[in-house]
Amino acid sequence: MDYIIIISIGWLVCGAICAFVASAKNRTALGWFFTGCLFGLLAVIIIFALSPLDSDDDLMEENDESISFVCNECRQQILIDKKDLKNIDTIVCSNCGNEIQLNHGNKNNNQKRH
Ligand SMILES: [Zn+2]
Repeated sequence: MDYIIIISIGWLVCGAICAFVASAKNRTALGWFFTGCLFGLLAVIIIFALSPLDSDDDLMEENDESISFVCNECRQQILIDKKDLKNIDTIVCSNCGNEIQLNHGNKNNNQKRH
């Protein structure tokens, strides 16, 4: 009976490996976890064989790297780079010039002075 436990653990491990590799390859981790649980080693071989979603990677990264804001005044969508977001406190709408204040969460002026 121990074999059943070992096999089911093995199946779950396969699922975990699939999820891990899938997320590293910009694929849905949860979907691949279940695929790994269902197909075991076969799914692991498949996810390793699959090429990362490289072609879309640059585009996806751009989407991930930027945050969209909606202007209060004109409802214009404003895309801000996450890197820029740390350095700015106010977004100016390119459409109507409305200023949107940003809350960075550390507004307590705890900046260390050197
Ligand atoms: Zn606006």
